[in-house]
Amino acid sequence: MPLDPVELTLDLTASRQHLIRCRLRFTPTHQAMELRLPVWTPGSYLQRDYVRQLQNLELLQAGEAVPLVRREPSVWTAQLEHLLPVEVHYAAMATELTVRTCHLDDDHASLALAALALQVNGARWAPHHLQLLLPDGWQPFVPLPFLNGPSEHRWIADSFDQLVDTPVEAGPHRWHGFVVHGVPHRWVCWSAVGGNPDPLLERHPQLLDDVAAVCSACCRLMGEAAPAAPSYLFVLHLLERGFGGLEHDNATVLQYGVEELAKPGGYRRFLQLVGHEYLHQWNVRRLRPAELTPIDYDRPTVVPSLWFAEGVTSYYDQFLPRLAGIGTDAGLLDDLGAEISRYLLTPGRLLGQTLRQSSQEAWVKLYRQDAYSGDNQISYYLKGAVMALVLDLRLRRAGSSLAVVLRELWQTRGRWRRGYSEVDLIDAFGAQLPALRDQLPAWLDGLEDPPLHEALGSVGLVLMPHPDSAPATGLLSAASASGLSAQKVARHSPAEAAGLCVGDELIALDGWRLRKPGDLSQRLQEGHKHTLTIGRHGKLRALTLQPTTPAVKSWSLQVDPGCSAAALALREQWLQVVPC
Ligand SMILES: [Zn+2]
Repeated sequence: MPLDPVELTLDLTASRQHLIRCRLRFTPTHQAMELRLPVWTPGSYLQRDYVRQLQNLELLQAGEAVPLVRREPSVWTAQLEHLLPVEVHYAAMATELTVRTCHLDDDHASLALAALALQVNGARWAPHHLQLLLPDGWQPFVPLPFLNGPSEHRWIADSFDQLVDTPVEAGPHRWHGFVVHGVPHRWVCWSAVGGNPDPLLERHPQLLDDVAAVCSACCRLMGEAAPAAPSYLFVLHLLERGFGGLEHDNATVLQYGVEELAKPGGYRRFLQLVGHEYLHQWNVRRLRPAELTPIDYDRPTVVPSLWFAEGVTSYYDQFLPRLAGIGTDAGLLDDLGAEISRYLLTPGRLLGQTLRQSSQEAWVKLYRQDAYSGDNQISYYLKGAVMALVLDLRLRRAGSSLAVVLRELWQTRGRWRRGYSEVDLIDAFGAQLPALRDQLPAWLDGLEDPPLHEALGSVGLVLMPHPDSAPATGLLSAASASGLSAQKVARHSPAEAAGLCVGDELIALDGWRLRKPGDLSQRLQEGHKHTLTIGRHGKLRALTLQPTTPAVKSWSLQVDPGCSAAALALREQWLQVVPC
């Protein structure tokens, strides 16, 4: 028996109240009816409790109100007397401007449907219809097929999962179309910073060609003649500041800051973000960890291989502009060096978490950073990308590559939507290089660095340290309402030895008033015992701060001019990215 569709109508006309009025209509299949709102959205591993934005939920059947019982914060049940169609009315506040939440104002709407779509028991695999009611002059951008035609603003999703995977953007926006290997793509930008009509396109008139080239480069990396999606929608929020993206099967929502765009390499990094999210249509959306197959929207799911999903994608995103013929080798090495530098300057990689633990603890650590996070965690994006680099170079020395492993997993699992376990991953690497069957699990479970310097040496690259100009204290300070305060205190540092705590007011050094961050560093002398006057809980204290030799401020990746011919040849092959 085909299941009747569930119809979700979202009225976006109360834009000044930032209120989305929702109506869910369906024919129940059980008299014991249950409604559940997801607590998270796939791709962003944090329990968001979208229910906190919901209000005025009521259930009607044949025009009569039916009492709902709240079983859990995001779960309601009702005992129905019959199986006639029902309507659920509710509203949701939409005031959070991120790629994974809802935002509605006079300028536009950006919706994450995990925050709005109630799952009806027995209807997860039923078709879901989506209808939008829009303010005058607005256009909808929805990566779903139309139910009837474009004028109706109604779309059809083949399941609840496809509905939740649908980002919705609407507003008086202009859009642009382009084709990648026969597949239609749409590009729509909402500029929060004004500009007519699209400041990014104005500054980079070749933008759409560049984006199409990056999309094509992703296909080449995957060894595919066309994208995995039957059509694709790019939504960009151009903000004053911001960086982020969320991947979907057939779409992505991106946020990028005009301040970042204006920096050297800012446009190249923007294209990396585009490539990162686009590559996810394979890695993580269709080639998906078994733990997310199917997705449990009700609670966090521990995924030990997020390092592969995000780290491998982060590694390749740096190569994609160059593979698309846009970037240069020098730009690529700059970006790789900056990423490795961030990694090497994060003590948490040696003190806090292994790569597997970082993946497993995503839900409670990566998205919940505090002043101490650098000491007790390492991002699975960052160490995952370093691991991908080490694996790629190890495999290339053996005549294979990381791209071969990725393609193999895609062909044997992702293409068929068969989830992969950690064992499948290790097997895929071991099939290319048997030594990795033992080495890879040890690297995933170790607090030490994978053999990074050896890997870089194999392609004639070296890491150059750049020391700080000021003596080291391990203290990071920032301007605060009262002047200057301690923002971070590094583990095993002079600041820690002095007894400083995050939040301390930094008042004076050797009797000299401190007012801004530079005031402290310019008075420090290596080995000297300074008296630092601080304020804590309303009382002054005098601490002894003894700085040490300047620490490494950053690392850069440089070509070793004396490297062997074999290393040079391997480097050329590695920079081609795509397997021969
Ligand atoms: Zn990602």
